[in-house]
Amino acid sequence: MVSTRREFLIIAGLSAIGAACPPLGRIIAKETSSWGSRLPGAPGRVPALKAKRWAMVVDANKCSGDCTDCMTACHEAHNVPAIGNVKQEVKWIWPERFEDVFPAESHAYIQESVRKQIIPVLCNHCDNPPCVRVCPTGATFRRADGIVMMDSHRCIGCKICLAACPFGARSINFVNPRPFIRKFNPDFPTRTKGVIEKCNFCEERLARGILPACVMACQEKALVFGDVDDPNSKVRQILDRKFSIRRRAELGTKPQVYYIL
Ligand code: SF4
Repeated sequence: MVSTRREFLIIAGLSAIGAACPPLGRIIAKETSSWGSRLPGAPGRVPALKAKRWAMVVDANKCSGDCTDCMTACHEAHNVPAIGNVKQEVKWIWPERFEDVFPAESHAYIQESVRKQIIPVLCNHCDNPPCVRVCPTGATFRRADGIVMMDSHRCIGCKICLAACPFGARSINFVNPRPFIRKFNPDFPTRTKGVIEKCNFCEERLARGILPACVMACQEKALVFGDVDDPNSKVRQILDRKFSIRRRAELGTKPQVYYIL
């Protein structure tokens, strides 16, 4: 019971604020959909990088097999844990052999140098992503610019997306990942046991006007990132000049990572 006029006015005021504000869940969902907005000094300083359709070109010819600069940079930028157990490993970008990346293009007599080629692979940010279709909570969703996002706060760890992705681009945290982070980046959130994670095309860096960590770390300039809808972008200029292939294009997921071999 409201005992004084003052208390009545306070309660009435709080009720009015509550009615005017969106529910807390909606606020959290909005915040976590773009970590760029949480980074110190992020908003307003450097204009965000924008595109109609983000895509990446990987020139495997420029990529030397034993270099892991792109992977280290990505995993450090995103607090990806180094679990050290292959069955529980978490990865956003990692090396694979040619015959595992492009099984349909591999055959018994393929050039030895090609067979041995090590190729960096990551989420393909598919135009038609099966992971998004199957997620029951909307934790994974596709942005208008093509980035396939992962909101760990909405992930219930059901693993359906893990099974749906034909590229093995998703990892689940079988254990608490925090003790396994080698170099903690305070500007990026950590995850918890039971949630899925994967490459986000560095959306938090794009929001600050910075290219993806892997692209910037590669000394050989083997990774190129840009707007595939823009005929003047570097990505398009490379694709216009060179023959490129995508992983398992026959499945119809329309991957947006293009490989030059
Ligand atoms: Fe989803 Fe896999 Fe395509 Fe990435 S590569 S968008 S995780 S289906």
